[in-house]
Amino acid sequence: MMTDELFREDATLRECAAQVIAAEEGGVILDRTVFYPQGGGQAGDSGVLRAADGAAFEIIDTRKSKLHAGGVLHVLAAGTAAPPVGTAVAARIDAARRDAHRRLHTATHLLCALVPHPVDGCSITRDYARLDFHMSEPLDKDTLNAGLARLVAEAHAVRHRWISEAELDAQPQLVRSMSVQPPRGLGRVRVLEIEGVDLQPCGGTHVSNTRDVGAVRVTKIEKKSAMTRRVVLGFAEDNDNATASRP
Ligand SMILES: [Zn+2]
Repeated sequence: MMTDELFREDATLRECAAQVIAAEEGGVILDRTVFYPQGGGQAGDSGVLRAADGAAFEIIDTRKSKLHAGGVLHVLAAGTAAPPVGTAVAARIDAARRDAHRRLHTATHLLCALVPHPVDGCSITRDYARLDFHMSEPLDKDTLNAGLARLVAEAHAVRHRWISEAELDAQPQLVRSMSVQPPRGLGRVRVLEIEGVDLQPCGGTHVSNTRDVGAVRVTKIEKKSAMTRRVVLGFAEDNDNATASRP
């Protein structure tokens, strides 16, 4: 019940043709998908599955299937009947939500380059991203924002490639995160490189050049414990408008 994960090779895909291959509590598994399942700190995609007869099935979240190894579970809105196994669908993500995830996710890599300490927690959502750094020194918001703005303006290329687990084991410094270890046992690991800035294992969705991160900045720095500094990132346009209080 493996799902072909098209978003791993191309994070800009919005839609694909697919077929329902299994149903499970709350959702369906497709043979291929553009929907990113929650993982590595990044939230899952939402969107819609549309059958040839026009029937639409709203997808409110995406998870890794617990029942079918390698399957991506498309979570249906409450009360929505699942399309039957065998149904051909057009699977389309909420593009604005994905673009927010791509920008904020890439910004967390830039932050990792600016703060040379291990990460022990990470969350990337539609509206904000937060990273917990294992460190006791204080962090300065203005310094981090100047660093982010510089890395965005420098327009570094962002690309992924696959390396063998043996190559990864030979470079333990590649693993920046203490809590989110790269998935093992597949023989290969996806690494994300921001040219000249950052290199680490990551399976998430990113922009293809740091200039596309755009106006993202640090909105809050918190001391969560003696050894944890939490940095929260948000979109500058949101904060300029003060539309809502962000966590
Ligand atoms: Zn990443």
